[in-house]
Amino acid sequence: MVDKTAPELARETLKLLIVRKLAPTPANYQAVFNEIACLSNEPPFPVEHLRKIAQDLPTRTPGQQKQRSLMEYAVTQLSWEGVHKALVAYGDFSPRTGSETSGFGALAGNEPVVPVNGAAGPAAGIGAPALTADFLEQIARLIEFARPALGTDDIRFTEQTQELLRTMRQPGADIVQVKQMLSTFGHRVSFAAEDQAEIKSTLLHLLRLIMENISELSLDDRWLSGQVEALMAAATPPLTLRRLDDVERRLRDVMFKQAEAKGRAVEAQEEMREMLGTFIERLSLMTDSTSAYGGKMEEHAKLIEQAKSFEELTPVLKEVVSATRGMASDSLNARNELRGMREHAQATEAEIMKLHLELDRVSAQARHDPLTGALNRKGLDEALNREVSNVRRKETPLCMALLDIDNFKRINDDLGHITGDQALAHLAQVARDCMRPQDTLARYGGEEFVILLPDTTLDRGIEAMTRLQRELTKRFFLAGVEKILITFSAGVAQLAPDEDGAGAIKRADQAMYMAKRAGKNRVLGA
Ligand code: GH3
Ligand code: MG
Ligand code: MG
Repeated sequence: MVDKTAPELARETLKLLIVRKLAPTPANYQAVFNEIACLSNEPPFPVEHLRKIAQDLPTRTPGQQKQRSLMEYAVTQLSWEGVHKALVAYGDFSPRTGSETSGFGALAGNEPVVPVNGAAGPAAGIGAPALTADFLEQIARLIEFARPALGTDDIRFTEQTQELLRTMRQPGADIVQVKQMLSTFGHRVSFAAEDQAEIKSTLLHLLRLIMENISELSLDDRWLSGQVEALMAAATPPLTLRRLDDVERRLRDVMFKQAEAKGRAVEAQEEMREMLGTFIERLSLMTDSTSAYGGKMEEHAKLIEQAKSFEELTPVLKEVVSATRGMASDSLNARNELRGMREHAQATEAEIMKLHLELDRVSAQARHDPLTGALNRKGLDEALNREVSNVRRKETPLCMALLDIDNFKRINDDLGHITGDQALAHLAQVARDCMRPQDTLARYGGEEFVILLPDTTLDRGIEAMTRLQRELTKRFFLAGVEKILITFSAGVAQLAPDEDGAGAIKRADQAMYMAKRAGKNRVLGA
């Protein structure tokens, strides 16, 4: 180092950086500074970093332990070369390298054989060259690897294992002590292995029981019972990881399916509950009048709502069924009653029908018009035949008049149909009153009448009708307090010797028509 103060060196360094047109980076500054100060340009030795690395190096083997110590020494000496050599040699002692696993002989080249015990020899029962710390390390690792397979629940066994491993890995381990410990450990291992085999077979047995149970629960599901059978086959020894994977996969499927099936069952139960609820509600409605019965049904409905399983539903259902039987018998009685009523109604209906038929029959036989009391068409036909026969036999004159009320439609329109009926009845009554006893009045149509006048010539017949006209002007028809004058137009015909009754009526009708044409309220002879 040149004889200059630090500030002087710093100034010169900056000047040179400018002259050389170098960027003022820490690395450039360091390089120029070292050059001016005549110092080596090498970076400083990272003591702390390297020491930390050395401390962290694992020492699984004595070789590694030794190389770590060498490295720590090289670091204190600031020796890159020493660090380099120690690290390279350390790598050779890694447990994963072939040199450690291929046998003791491989170590002989660059690693001194470390006797575990100076006294080792035929007396210890193990050949001295083979008895190395590495050999013990191999056994220790074997124990470590196999230990989990023997279970970790037995704490004493775990402690014993740890003690053995510690003893085996101690530098200068006592081989006799290690041998005794190994012997005890061997016994323990044999028991633990038996236990593990027993546990495995018991677990498998339990697994089969569970699967059988699932199968029993799912009698109605063919897919599920098929899956369970496959599961049982897969869970039969000898087991492999692959087979156990298969068991797990199938078991998951079964669980999913079971959950689904349970969901469906709950749904079905819910539906049934709702259905029963509605059923009971209806029953309650039916028996609304019987409060005790309604209360009972409400109680059942509550029980059904609270039921968590079909088992709980069963007794309630029995109650409901018995109550329903009672209801059914009530319903039967009600139905019988209804049926009786219906039969009665049917009988009444039949009776009414019979009466109607009878009425029709009677009506068919009737000869009179019920409204006016005059003969109907049938009665007229019979009367006419009789009179015509009389005429033929006695050779007496027979007249017939056909009268039609004038403007009768207006009466109906102005005063109503009922008043019209009463008007018809009034005319019939007045006609009867002024007719002779041997005369016959018949209702020919709506407001048309025929009067048969035996032993009457045409002139007398016309006179009789005119008389009736006059009579009607005297006997007003009273519609309430209103006086109504009923008039009619009539045609009168005398039966000709070769004429039948219908022919004579036809002529009378034509005369009536002529009277209408002539101005109504008049009587014309045919
Ligand atoms: P015209 O002077 O030309 O005879 O006129 P009209 O109104 O009397 O004759 P039309 O034939 O036009 O009407 C007859 C009416 O008589 C029609 C019908 O409603 C009524 N009539 C028929 N039968 C009955 C019955 O039994 N009761 C009642 N109230 N009205 C009847
Ligand atoms: Mg008419
Ligand atoms: Mg008329």
